[in-house]
Amino acid sequence: KLSERLQLLLEQVPEGSRLADIGSDHALLPVAAVISGRVPSAIAGEVNLGPYEAAGRGVAEAGLSKQIAVRRGDGLEVLEPGEADTITIAGMGGSLIAAILERGQKQGKLAGVKTLALQPNVGEDILRRWLLGNGWVLISEHILEEDGKTYEILTAVPEGSEAGRTNEQLYQEYAPAGGKVAFDQALLLQMGPWLLQAPNEVFMAKWQGEISKLEGILTSLSRSELEAAEEKRSKISAQIKRIAEVLECLP
Ligand code: SAM
Repeated sequence: KLSERLQLLLEQVPEGSRLADIGSDHALLPVAAVISGRVPSAIAGEVNLGPYEAAGRGVAEAGLSKQIAVRRGDGLEVLEPGEADTITIAGMGGSLIAAILERGQKQGKLAGVKTLALQPNVGEDILRRWLLGNGWVLISEHILEEDGKTYEILTAVPEGSEAGRTNEQLYQEYAPAGGKVAFDQALLLQMGPWLLQAPNEVFMAKWQGEISKLEGILTSLSRSELEAAEEKRSKISAQIKRIAEVLECLP
């Protein structure tokens, strides 16, 4: 059985896709995608030998060697242009995912790709910024908690392919709840434009946790005699205030 995290990621894969799962490790996602009938076949990419072998074993044990091609290589390098129309990348930092997409784009591997379903462990803002800067528009965001960890799942399509939505609309500044806080682009990239529109308990807990972390830093800084500490303190105080204001005005 898939983890909740991978199950939710799988649900972002359009039915009948030509799927490529990059950094597939045990190939759990492509195996479940094919077994469930969601996709007819898939490609599992892995750069490291151990996980590559684990993917091969996972696919063989599931009896899916004909349907799932396991390939060894860096990022999207394992794909022929046009071979996949949905790419999943999960369980890495947002900056690594963005770097994989950036290199893949330069190699022409994103041509014909219609859906990116991504699950960064950290650095979600970096990944959102890459998508925004490279013509991809978020169509959904999910946040969940599993085994004490918080995960976000970002799904994007090429801008212009989804009727009626553009990045300009998604990231335009707006000020809900009487205009107390302006949701500017930096804030939307950090917290997520879709998550902010429909915040759930996990989202609130994540950002309350973020406030606690910053307060901890503030406390340790207030013991410091260094002059630079003062500047840092006011920066962090401002951050705390901003997040707290946002949480306060959310529905
Ligand atoms: N995607 C699976 C998941 O979410 O459960 C496995 C996540 S695992 C923590 C990250 C995997 O990405 C590792 O197996 C690692 O070898 C692989 N990886 C890291 N950088 C990669 C790259 N540039 N290209 C392909 N795979 C990569």
